[in-house]
Amino acid sequence: MKVALYGYGKLLTKTAKYIENTDGIEIVAIVNDVLNDGSGQGMILSDAGGYEKYPGADGLPALKNIFDEGAAEAVIVACENELISFVTRRILSAGIYDICILPTYYENDLYDIDDKSFIWIDNTKPRLDYIEYHISFHCNLNCKGCSHFSNLIKEARFGNAERFRKDMERLSELFWGIGKIRLMGGEPVLNPELPQFVYIARSYFPDADIRVVSNGLMIRETDTELFKAMRECAVYFDVSMYPPTKGCISRLDDICKKEQVMLTVTPEVGEFGASLNPKGDSSPAESYDKCPARHCVYLQDGKVSTCAMPQLIDIYNDHFGCNIKPGTSDVTDIYDPGIKGIDIIERTKRPMEICRYCYPERRNFKWQPSLSPEASDWVGGESN
Ligand code: SF4
Ligand code: SF4
Repeated sequence: MKVALYGYGKLLTKTAKYIENTDGIEIVAIVNDVLNDGSGQGMILSDAGGYEKYPGADGLPALKNIFDEGAAEAVIVACENELISFVTRRILSAGIYDICILPTYYENDLYDIDDKSFIWIDNTKPRLDYIEYHISFHCNLNCKGCSHFSNLIKEARFGNAERFRKDMERLSELFWGIGKIRLMGGEPVLNPELPQFVYIARSYFPDADIRVVSNGLMIRETDTELFKAMRECAVYFDVSMYPPTKGCISRLDDICKKEQVMLTVTPEVGEFGASLNPKGDSSPAESYDKCPARHCVYLQDGKVSTCAMPQLIDIYNDHFGCNIKPGTSDVTDIYDPGIKGIDIIERTKRPMEICRYCYPERRNFKWQPSLSPEASDWVGGESN
């Protein structure tokens, strides 16, 4: 097969080297492509610089000519994960339909490319950028004003692995891929079935950047089954560095190196933000436009929403006797007959009715644990 490569950096180099040492596949061009982003210089999306032994295709029209002449049969995209949806749509819009991608985790030296690494995209479906899912609803670290209300949950409450499998399968019918899947909570490591969730997510979405989002405090050297699943599935630990986590970062780093599990740690989280408006008189559009959670599409029991709020607010309502209700269109059933992936993308990229219960501005406060939460911990704006 004759292929053109599209991408840049270490992943492109690794891909080119693999192809050079593989029979039956040949690189006929590497694409130069720059996006006019208004900066004057443009944003490099694909760069043939440094690969003089291959012809460069200067821009998508040149790449299309190569296809029209029958000199290439497919494009292999090897670029950073956040760009893959955009780049594949860009190549499709040039009339090139045979596209496969190399997942970005192959950039890591832990993972060698082989013939199963290349993923053909199904260009009849879109890619969903992001989804998050609760592996556990409760948490060991009761942060004041936890945005997912985990510090209000006193009993163990877990996501259901079989239900998750069904939902992942359904999403794979609607989308050719998912950019990022965050397995979180609450503290996901509290769920003894976490390795199963890791295997399930990876089996349906080989392209995804999958992360176990943890406060790090419960990760132990003895979690061998979990490390094995994460290593085999190329899944990251994404540790949020709250003040109590600081002291265990070096231990986590040692464990993850020994277990060959990828680890990222956030900068220290010293502040939380509160934005709840119990009066419900905010402008949904204004609150949504300024909201840092507006891209955090949340999945629970076959339903998705723009953020977790419509599906978790009952935890707050039940604890404090409130009655904050989402609108009927705030939550979308992924099993609705006739629904398409593009409908779900459109519905999760717009303000929800429940956004009127958030102030556009957040009230920041110093991170602290809270064993006796108060309703006002979540309230933002001038009223607090
Ligand atoms: S560690 Fe995260 S999930 Fe747990 S209480 Fe704190 S903010 Fe919530
Ligand atoms: S309800 Fe709307 S404004 Fe509030 S956190 Fe979710 S997306 Fe943001």
